[in-house]
Amino acid sequence: MKFLHEYRQRPGIERIAREIVRITTRHWTIMEVCGGQTHAIVKYGLQQFLPSQIRLVHGPGCPVCVTPLDIIDQAIAIAARPDVIFCTFGDMLRVPGSEGDLLGVRARGGDVRMVYSPLHALDIARRNPNRKVVFFAVGFETTAPANAMAAFLAHEQGLNNFFLLVSQFLVPPAIAAISSAADTRIDGYLAAGHVCAVTGFESYQQLADTFRVPIVVTGFEPLDILQGILMCVRQLERDKYQVQNQYARAVEPAGNPHAQHMLQQVFEVSSQTWRGVGNIPASGLRLRAAYSVLNAAPLFDEKRSCPDDTRGCISGEIMLGKRTPPDCPHFGESCQPQHPLGAPMVSSEGACAAYYRYRAQVITSDATDRATHEH
Ligand code: SF4
Repeated sequence: MKFLHEYRQRPGIERIAREIVRITTRHWTIMEVCGGQTHAIVKYGLQQFLPSQIRLVHGPGCPVCVTPLDIIDQAIAIAARPDVIFCTFGDMLRVPGSEGDLLGVRARGGDVRMVYSPLHALDIARRNPNRKVVFFAVGFETTAPANAMAAFLAHEQGLNNFFLLVSQFLVPPAIAAISSAADTRIDGYLAAGHVCAVTGFESYQQLADTFRVPIVVTGFEPLDILQGILMCVRQLERDKYQVQNQYARAVEPAGNPHAQHMLQQVFEVSSQTWRGVGNIPASGLRLRAAYSVLNAAPLFDEKRSCPDDTRGCISGEIMLGKRTPPDCPHFGESCQPQHPLGAPMVSSEGACAAYYRYRAQVITSDATDRATHEH
């Protein structure tokens, strides 16, 4: 398959890995920001191709994982209303709130539906004019344009039964927050290719300059990721900190202006709370005043204030690159995909789910690391 098969070929992967080994002289910690990249790294056991000096840590780029607890609780409360059809991506169904999850609401008779796009939810609203249809608009810059498009169409078509429960996040402020933390240990970043396909990466240079870190826009296949790591290590070894684009086949420097225009028409920047991480200024999106009539939150007035009860879940430390899933005492024991304690064990982009699903590869990789050290 074009643009896929060739990025999974072992000879190419081994060639790049050898080059990384050849040029690496020091210890470097590199964070892949996106949960999709985390899954590829763990699934293909990419750490085992790297020299022991290169440590990969996992960033906050899983939208399900970072959606704050009070928004999950709000979603659960809204979904339980008899006059509501609550539409969500499948990953959100099992994310634990303070007292249960959306799947539990459905089991108790709530009309909770899994959709694959906000336009699907919009269609449900058109077909059910006597019900309130609420779409759970979660995600990063990748999902925001489609969510904005749904809001734009609903507004234009005068649909008065379609609402958005918005929990949108922006990646660059999160990188800034991680980089500016006093105890940060991140030497370089692999930025998320699909986010940059929307936003471009010209604005990332300011981050690279401010924090003196290389940032490499990177794709999601094994070869992409190893190339991204190679580009990052090359810069680190030469004491450079530039933005480079490994994912040139999908990402333009200025991104997608049409998507940006739609996004900016409907949303404006706001502060945002990241689950397990805390509030980060200017790291979220909210509906502009012209679209506030679509905002599900005040309409239903179900917002609850509750403490961010983590129940021992260390997801925040994992998403800040301070620890990895096996460091969590609950991992694979009291926290498993069937009964998750935290969102990273639920989401298809969650780091804990990746380590659990591909734990055989992780164990192999660890064993390979040990063998490398012993020789
Ligand atoms: S294993 Fe479970 S409890 Fe531990 S960090 Fe991951 S999601 Fe949280």
